[in-house]
Amino acid sequence: MVRVRFAPSPTGPLHIGGVRTCLYNYLFAKQHGGALLLRIEDTDQTRFVPGAEEYIVESFKWLGITFDEGVHVGGKHVPYKQSERMHIYKKYADELIEKGWAYYAFDTPEDLETKRKEAEAEKKTFQYDVNTRNTMCNSLTLSPEETAEKLQGNYVVRFKYPENTEIHVRDLIRGDVKINSQLLDDKVLFKSDGLPTYHLANVVDDHLMEITHVIRGEEWLPSAPLHVMLYKAFEWQAPQFAHLPLLLKPDGNGKLSKRDGDRLGFPVFPLQWKDPNTGEISSGYRESGYLPEAVNNFLALLGWNPGTEEEVMSMEQLIARFSLEKVSKSGAKFDLDKAKWFNHYYIQQKPNTVLAEIFAQQLAEKNIHPDIEKIEKVVALVKERVYFTTDFWNQSAFLFQAPETYNPEVVKKRWKEDTPLQLKQVIEILTSVSPFDKIVVHDKVVAFIQENQLNMGQIMNCLRLALVGDSKGPDLFEIIDFIGVGETVRRIERAMEEI
Ligand code: GLU
Repeated sequence: MVRVRFAPSPTGPLHIGGVRTCLYNYLFAKQHGGALLLRIEDTDQTRFVPGAEEYIVESFKWLGITFDEGVHVGGKHVPYKQSERMHIYKKYADELIEKGWAYYAFDTPEDLETKRKEAEAEKKTFQYDVNTRNTMCNSLTLSPEETAEKLQGNYVVRFKYPENTEIHVRDLIRGDVKINSQLLDDKVLFKSDGLPTYHLANVVDDHLMEITHVIRGEEWLPSAPLHVMLYKAFEWQAPQFAHLPLLLKPDGNGKLSKRDGDRLGFPVFPLQWKDPNTGEISSGYRESGYLPEAVNNFLALLGWNPGTEEEVMSMEQLIARFSLEKVSKSGAKFDLDKAKWFNHYYIQQKPNTVLAEIFAQQLAEKNIHPDIEKIEKVVALVKERVYFTTDFWNQSAFLFQAPETYNPEVVKKRWKEDTPLQLKQVIEILTSVSPFDKIVVHDKVVAFIQENQLNMGQIMNCLRLALVGDSKGPDLFEIIDFIGVGETVRRIERAMEEI
């Protein structure tokens, strides 16, 4: 049975690249009838950020990505938070020492700094590895007695790479990745404060939690040789690895960062995040008016494609079509226009009743409480122009309140000396048709303009200016129908006065 996990460290808001990693894990698990776990990797307590774990859980709830086991869910391998599993890891560090796959190191931070400086002076970089470990203060260079004595103080456990060995990482996306052990540093696995590092905790937990596939970001590829070796050292069967390509900036090269989002005006986090230390707010997809369906769909296509031209895919379709073989090796450029396009598409697909509920909430925040049927009508009228659910107000404010200002550019271009006179005649036509009928009024206004050989564009635009305050908005007679004749007349008169 396929078992995969998403294993974030709660060090801040979840980057959208992390969301994609989890989405791919989800698609893969669902397709194979397997399980997806959410494991919180918080062994590095110095980087812990309050609220980050809850943020992660809420993000996936919003996106509709569900976990079969994990924090906030439970499961047969509880606990799923590494800080609650600290008692587990020491015995595995001990086992590695016993088997000769690891050693104790006692070098002080000062010792290491000196080595670094010495290397720097020779224009080299110091690495604690196969080549240097014999010159350092560790259980390989000290006698058993000295080692026993030093173990009373501070120490770390380091992995002991075998000499001159080719290590193979078989990656489902990248194929066979090889590296020679001479080049790798003897990573710290465990510290005398009783805490494991990421590498040990990650591998031990993946094993104990019966993970079959490790699907994670490319930034973890350099750690993979160590992980492969750890499985070998423990004599455990290694999971299969798949390292996903990076998400790149929309312009230029390099990893997509929060700064790119700020610069180009799009969120790089699923939900809005307030930094608990600085109070700084980062925007989120949810608050920016994206629908979860759109986010899932465009994220799925950043680094994967179904091998056809198909782009719009529901979660069920993504589950059916996804395959690791079709994940690309090279980075995927974030495409803002595409993201917008998907969101617009999914908004058009949403029933007006659902959109009306979203919009009703926004209106309530402005203390506007129309009947839901009325909101549904508004939604139907302006939906086509809406790219984000947050656009509804901008596109329809004039349906709820008279304009307070008139776009000066439009005034300058359209409002002429005889405009008030013409609008007065429009008022007459409007009030003469009772009960109001938008088609009849439309035809009458058009006939009046044609008979008097007036300028159609000018009159219609001035009427729009009076009702909307600008040159935007849906069909004029729909607007009149919606706000009513009385309000229309009031707005025209007011515009005549103000302009
Ligand atoms: N805790 C790591 C992270 O923050 C997990 C990497 C992995 O999936 O092995 O992404």
